[in-house]
Amino acid sequence: MAEIHLKNLAHSYLPHPSGPSDYALKKIDHVWEDGKAYALLGPSGCGKSTLLNIISGLLTPSEGSVLFDGEDVTNLPTEKRHIAQVFQFPVVYDTMTVYDNLAFPLKNRGHDAKTIDQRVRDIAEMLEMTGELNKKARGLTADAKQKISLGRGLVRQNVSAILFDEPLTVIDPHLKWMLRMQLKALHKKTDRTMIYVTHDQTEALTFADKVVVMYEGDVVQMGTPQELFERPQHTFVGYFIGSPGMNVIPAHVEGNQAHIEGTTIQLNYGYKGMSGSNVEIGVRPEFTSLHEGGEGLPITIKRVEDVGRYKIVRADFFGREINITVPEGQPISERVNRVSFDPTRVNVYQGGWIVDGEAA
Ligand code: ADP
Ligand code: MG
Repeated sequence: MAEIHLKNLAHSYLPHPSGPSDYALKKIDHVWEDGKAYALLGPSGCGKSTLLNIISGLLTPSEGSVLFDGEDVTNLPTEKRHIAQVFQFPVVYDTMTVYDNLAFPLKNRGHDAKTIDQRVRDIAEMLEMTGELNKKARGLTADAKQKISLGRGLVRQNVSAILFDEPLTVIDPHLKWMLRMQLKALHKKTDRTMIYVTHDQTEALTFADKVVVMYEGDVVQMGTPQELFERPQHTFVGYFIGSPGMNVIPAHVEGNQAHIEGTTIQLNYGYKGMSGSNVEIGVRPEFTSLHEGGEGLPITIKRVEDVGRYKIVRADFFGREINITVPEGQPISERVNRVSFDPTRVNVYQGGWIVDGEAA
């Protein structure tokens, strides 16, 4: 097991990068604690695989270093890092049986037959593949092959970390859910550091103790699911997490007030020196409420979507959409024409990044 320190790390696939846009990974400096379950979350192309491959040693970063428990491993190959990695698509030996595929990483490292047999059977049971141990991998479905890949990643016991790069992409939705639960249970049982790459927020939020959100080569926030929900450090985290995401509205902020299209909103904190065109407020749909007249921003309801436990109201505010969630069973009057925000839940952003206010 190991604490992983990414020290002044950056990576460009170009030999002579000339500006920030030439970097697949911009400056990163942080510590991943030993034994935690992390999810690396972000849209396609934001640098997740690049970062994962640098941690595993498949890729050498163009700048900075990787430390495991304080030891510099930047130039060590994967085999020397005691890391298991599971990829998006199955990596199995078609001509071998399921059993031999699972046993391979252990045989390779010279474990005795009895230990190998026990581990292979334990892993097969967890993956519900006991009945298929003697089948050749060749004839199996993509699902089953990917389960073998997962098993090959999980079979070794003395690894510092297990890295998963979108491992459930080819797995059908029901099985996906089940495997995710099993990975989580396995993490609880073993306390091994796990890093799980995904572009799916549900997958990230259900699996991880801490979610690392990436956007265009930057890590924009590393936090618990609750922190990401309550205090998105960047507007991108606000949109990307939540369904629907946080409402982000351009505003003119002065002291403890935000002025938006002629309406004034009270804020819980005071803000200084916020002149400039790149100021926005962010409020999640969960912290808004609808009224007839009175305070709040003037809106027109465009549509109401019933998603089961709550309704999503899509409202128009000067050509901009504002989303409001309303609990199940609460009626929505046709005369509703204002939306107000819980002041304690309104965040202020400048240039996309959150600004800390002062007690007003
Ligand atoms: P993600 O896993 O989040 O989808 P990647 O880490 O694969 O993102 O890619 C990040 C960026 O680096 C993308 O712009 C991608 O096109 C680029 N990239 C990835 N791999 C290579 C490579 N081997 N050579 C050049 N560019 C690459
Ligand atoms: Mg990727």
